[in-house]
Amino acid sequence: MTKQEILLAQKEFIFPAVFTYFKEPLVVSHAKDQYVWDADGNQYLDFFGGIVTVGVGHCNDQVNAKVQAQMNKLGHISPVFANEPQATLAKKLASITPSGALTKSFFTSSGSEANETAILAARCFTGSTEIIALRHSYHGRTQGTMGLTGQSQWKLGPPQAGIVHAVNAYCYRCPFGLEYPSCELKCAQDMEQVIRSSTSGRVAGLIAEPIQGVGGFITPPKEYFKIVTDIVHKYGGVFIADEVQTAWGRTGSKWFGIEHWDVVPDIITSAKGLANGMPIGVTIARPEVANAVKGLTISTFGGNPIATTAANAVLDYIEEQNILRNTEEVGAYLMNGLLDLKDKHQIIGDVRGKGLLLALELVEDRRSKAPATNATLQLMESARENRVMIGRGGLYGNVIRLSPPMNIGRGDVDEFLLRLGASLTACEAAMFATSAV
Ligand code: PMP
Repeated sequence: MTKQEILLAQKEFIFPAVFTYFKEPLVVSHAKDQYVWDADGNQYLDFFGGIVTVGVGHCNDQVNAKVQAQMNKLGHISPVFANEPQATLAKKLASITPSGALTKSFFTSSGSEANETAILAARCFTGSTEIIALRHSYHGRTQGTMGLTGQSQWKLGPPQAGIVHAVNAYCYRCPFGLEYPSCELKCAQDMEQVIRSSTSGRVAGLIAEPIQGVGGFITPPKEYFKIVTDIVHKYGGVFIADEVQTAWGRTGSKWFGIEHWDVVPDIITSAKGLANGMPIGVTIARPEVANAVKGLTISTFGGNPIATTAANAVLDYIEEQNILRNTEEVGAYLMNGLLDLKDKHQIIGDVRGKGLLLALELVEDRRSKAPATNATLQLMESARENRVMIGRGGLYGNVIRLSPPMNIGRGDVDEFLLRLGASLTACEAAMFATSAV
């Protein structure tokens, strides 16, 4: 197909709800390591890593070789049989979860399904149906997980019963208008009021992302998760860490994002980067929680040998290449570069995140913090012109999300910062021209 034929077919035959970036969608032809090529042969530096999925580089040789070998050995069988790649992966996950406390896995094919499974397990274990989620969260596209999600634009269809939303720890736009640390974590303390005022007083659990992904990499202060998990446990609930974006070393130095907050969750969910882009979802739980899910439930593609082989290969690669250290070091280097850009570009209101999960929040002016939503769209177009891929997010659509493959080096960061700087300059010039008219 030509590029035009692809674009026409996309428009005519795919649900319009499948939105694409840019005024004219970018048609991607192929990719290798940190680079992606479009249908016109232009090469881009990928600093979104697919969509926080391509953690160890596009078409990673080591991962692909193992997947190809597995495809020729056993491509699919049913979850009603056991298979080695699934057993190997489950055993490995049990050995790397925080404190070794979460030892039982349930495999599916996406983050949404992983979260559905977690909610089911929390409800079976506690006997309660009531779940607390956070404002600005994103948990998936099923009816249940849209109900958990705390951003109106991603909540299609009717609200779901049994879910209430607590405020999030959004320090840049504190829901209470306070400043950290003199706020004394009012956002976290408020969890008790939410439970006492908006639930029956006995809850199944709290689901939260250690760093809110689609919400714009909103990163809570270090005390936050200890306070909220203690409160949730006090009222009978479990803590579910949605690590769809934050797991597998992404946040630097740790396998799981929640480890930065020194809290051991009762359930962890993940997907995205686990198999470097192959469809996989996983719900990992403490044994007593997993054992509470009684009765029949099956995910046809869950634990399939191809996806689990890819995941095993990704985890091996992360260990062999010491990726946890790389995300920490190169992440700190990128963070410094972004802070330098903030000094030069007034449009950058906030820089935040951990490891190689970093974001810029763009504002019209730093005092009012009015979200620069149109300028963010403009920046995306400029970045495309400068051949760099970046992600967008935030409730107000004004956050640039960066999550490059975790095996990049400082040279890639230098190149990226040059291109992003040029894109910011072009974007500010375009904004200035519009406001001068
Ligand atoms: N949770 C989080 C934190 C996510 O970022 C996403 C996907 N963006 C999901 C759940 C849902 O994952 P999926 O799209 O694979 O269903």
